[in-house]
Amino acid sequence: YISEYKKKTKGSVKLFDKSLKFHVNGVSHNIRFFEPYPFVVKSSSGKNLVDVDNNKYTDYWMGHWSLILGHGPKPVKDAVKKQIEKSWMYGTVNEQTIKLSELISKAVPVAEKIRYVTSGTEATMYAVRLARSVTGKNIIAKIDGGWHGYTSDLLKSVNWPFTESESTGVVNEEKIVSIPFNDFEKSLEILKKVSNDLAGIIIEPVLGGGGCIPANADYLKGIQEFCKKNNSLFILDEIVTGFRFRFGCLYPTMNLDPDIVTLGKIVGGGMPIGVMCGKKEIMEYSNTKGKKKTERSYIGGGTFSANPMSMTSGFATLTELKSGKTIYSKINSLGDFVRKEITKVFDGKVIVTGKGSLFMTHFVKDGVTEVINSSQAAKCDTSLLNKYHFKMIAHDGIFFLPGKLGAISNAHTKEDIKKMINATENFQE
Ligand code: PMP
Repeated sequence: YISEYKKKTKGSVKLFDKSLKFHVNGVSHNIRFFEPYPFVVKSSSGKNLVDVDNNKYTDYWMGHWSLILGHGPKPVKDAVKKQIEKSWMYGTVNEQTIKLSELISKAVPVAEKIRYVTSGTEATMYAVRLARSVTGKNIIAKIDGGWHGYTSDLLKSVNWPFTESESTGVVNEEKIVSIPFNDFEKSLEILKKVSNDLAGIIIEPVLGGGGCIPANADYLKGIQEFCKKNNSLFILDEIVTGFRFRFGCLYPTMNLDPDIVTLGKIVGGGMPIGVMCGKKEIMEYSNTKGKKKTERSYIGGGTFSANPMSMTSGFATLTELKSGKTIYSKINSLGDFVRKEITKVFDGKVIVTGKGSLFMTHFVKDGVTEVINSSQAAKCDTSLLNKYHFKMIAHDGIFFLPGKLGAISNAHTKEDIKKMINATENFQE
């Protein structure tokens, strides 16, 4: 399929060669590179990406899974256009922020106070600092293979699909411990060893980058209970899962009561955003006014925090999700359909993980019989997954970021999904 790809992406290769001159590996985010070179996008709309050679791809990457309504949905576009006429940057308090917070706080019970930043990475970085400030302790526990962005505070443990620590330049690694997902007994053993200095535990309710694997509700409940007893904060990273499966977060459906929740992606409607929200008494630590030195923490805030463009596109997106009563049931059931059909096509050779509109295909090998954590996902055949995704890019006009999970948006139809299943049937190892 490489020659087929090269033939149709002549304009992309020229531009990508130029990109290589200016950017390491030609990209500004390592995961965006794939062999032999990524196509260069010139526009997108609805379910499609269009490259500079005018190839159209049905997109399942959907802007790092941020575009739940598809590319450029009209209500969001209209709102953003209107806002841009007024201004795109104030650097002051603005009404757009208050409107978005009103929506989020109604939908997310723990969001008694909210702080906006401009990426998920910043949100988790500040959540860690907040946990340390509130508890006066230092260690943070995370899940093996859990992904919370590029903050040095959370980069120690091996992040799937890497087999060793993925970054140099990370200091204070000894302040991070990692625990196995969905294995409470083993997690507890590790946590007990650091309990005296444990500031908090951060977990995604569905591992995103770590293999699209839902957490077991009992596992999360156990971790939460441990946190409460141990005076450590329970932090849920819902940057992928927030507003993905329902209007709100995933945690209330599991009867959880986290101290801090981080959001991002969908709540910015495709504009840069990160959100940290939580219980009032915890979030108040970021209020430095009149506080004793031991109770103050500089948390959140940057030049582009709560900028009117992100706030407007987030508000328009959530408004659409709230009023479009059938959106979630539609995309969730398309996700169920995909999981069932791909499993059927590969007949025992794959495990398709995911939840609702998120799904990921794992080609089993080395006797893997289940994928309930990242190390099992990492044992699966990732090169075959890359090959399967690349075949769809080169031959079928269907885009998955090779090796990553797919996201269904409201712009996709059952016909699109059937086309993707067809392309799957025609895949030859
Ligand atoms: N947390 C999770 C669960 C994520 O999936 C990501 C990004 N994929 C982040 C945090 C970091 O967000 P951002 O890329 O916006 O910094």
